[in-house]
Parts: sequence; C-alpha cells; structure tokens
Amino acid sequence: MLRIAGITPFSTVDWPGKLACVAFCAGCPWRCPYCQNHALWHADSASTDENELYALLEQRHGLLDGVVLSGGEPLAQPGVLEVAMRVRELGFMVGLHTCGAFPGRLHELLPYLDWVGLDVKAPWDSYDAIARPAGGVRPAEVIRPAGIGRSIGEDRPAGEVLPADVIRPSEGSASHTAGTDTAASNTGALVRESLDVLLASNVELEVRTTWHPRLLAVDDVARIGEELASRGVRTWAVQAYRHVGTTGELINETVFPSDVPAELPPLFEHFEFRRA
Ligand code: SF4
Repeated sequence: MLRIAGITPFSTVDWPGKLACVAFCAGCPWRCPYCQNHALWHADSASTDENELYALLEQRHGLLDGVVLSGGEPLAQPGVLEVAMRVRELGFMVGLHTCGAFPGRLHELLPYLDWVGLDVKAPWDSYDAIARPAGGVRPAEVIRPAGIGRSIGEDRPAGEVLPADVIRPSEGSASHTAGTDTAASNTGALVRESLDVLLASNVELEVRTTWHPRLLAVDDVARIGEELASRGVRTWAVQAYRHVGTTGELINETVFPSDVPAELPPLFEHFEFRRA
C-alpha cells in the first residue's frame, strides 16, 4: 500500500514539459526549515491510497503523460515500487520528486522511472543543517545555520520516528551496495549516493536547490553548482525560497537571479532560476 495524502489530477508545473497528475505521499524522514509540505511529514497524514490514483488514471488515458510521485518523501514507503510498476502497466510515465534519502530504494525503482527531480539542499559537508533528520539526531546535535531558531523537529520528542513501515530505509535494494541507506544521519552522503545512482542511469534528471539567504551563502551555492557540474549534472534549477506554506520558522527573505554567481549557469546545459 502507498499512503497518499492527496492527488492533484492535473499539473503542468511538477514535471517540466509534461502533463501529469501528482500523488503526494505521506511521511518524510527529514524536517527542512523551508518545507512547504510539512502537513505531510507524518504517515498518518494520508487520506487515501494508490487505488484512487489508479481510478483517476483509468479516466485520463490520452489526457495525461504521466504521474509524479511527490510528497513528503515517496521513497520512504516500500509500496512505491509496486505503484510505479502499476502506473507503467497502465500506460503512463512515472516521475519522482525525491530528497535523495533512500538511495537503495531509488536504485530499485530506476527501471520504472522516466524523470526525477532530486533536491540537493546544501554542500555535502553541511547537509544536516538543512535536511534535519526527524528522529535519528536530537535537535541539539544538528548544526544550525545562523538565523534559525526553534527546530521543526522539536515538535516531536527526540528519538521519535515515523511508523516503522515508513521510515525503514534499509529496505532498499539488497543488491545495491548502498550500505548507507539510513535517513537518520549523514544526510549529505545519502543524497550524494542517490545522485550517483541517477547519473549512472538513463533516467532524465533535474537537480533542484532551494536558496534561502540565511541557509546558503553565495559561496555555498557556488560550491553546490561546481560540485554538481563536476559530477556530470546537466540540468540544475535554483529555486528562491518561498515563504508561503512554510511553518514560518525562517524569516521571509529571498534571493534574486542577479545573486547567482555569473560563472555558474554556463556550467550546465540547462540552468533555471525560479523566482519566489
Ligand atoms: S525533504 Fe524536506 S522539503 Fe522535502 S518534504 Fe521532507 S521536510 Fe519537506
């Protein structure tokens, strides 16, 4: 079963160039301070399951290109694999929005994916400051960037995790060498591994970085861009922080296209700055 918190039946913006419906999966192992989907953090935010998705698709043949599995974090649930297979069987393409916390499960899902939007949130060595694990790291252990006050994770007792069937990253592919599939620590290593999984595949990839000036300095953004380019990423989108829909933990600041160092866009075949 796939716990789904809601389905958007028609979207032109969640998969560039494609008409898709979007299934918002319930549950996420991380607590990013700019999250706009915090209502989906917990598994019990689900209101439906894959059967509603299948019923919708049966009525959308010829009208939709595919399904975007979004969230929350779709790969937090083992059931995502079966759903992706079924969506393909129904004649639709499969897109995925992921934070990269589950490289093993991502590896398993590759044969059924047509496009992935992967978040790369920070330089690898400071990743836990933004991708704060929900239960594996106590808030005090997380290095907080300047300007961040209360940890969102503090609304749950330290050590509490989502239900075991949601947060069980080690259930990733046994054949994959990803021994680091633990979403509770060293988040940067997990995302780097997910990126490598995708770059070694033929799946179309867009890497996205959300930029709040209190979380990422210009130098941090430059480091991210240079790292992505050196690894072979061809499509990178920098998204200005959007205050609407967040918990309000961060102050409402933004960055502008002119803030992006001029040397970064030419490093990519496709570069886009997405305004707030
Ligand atoms: S990875 Fe971060 S931004 Fe994405 S759903 Fe989870 S908490 Fe929100």
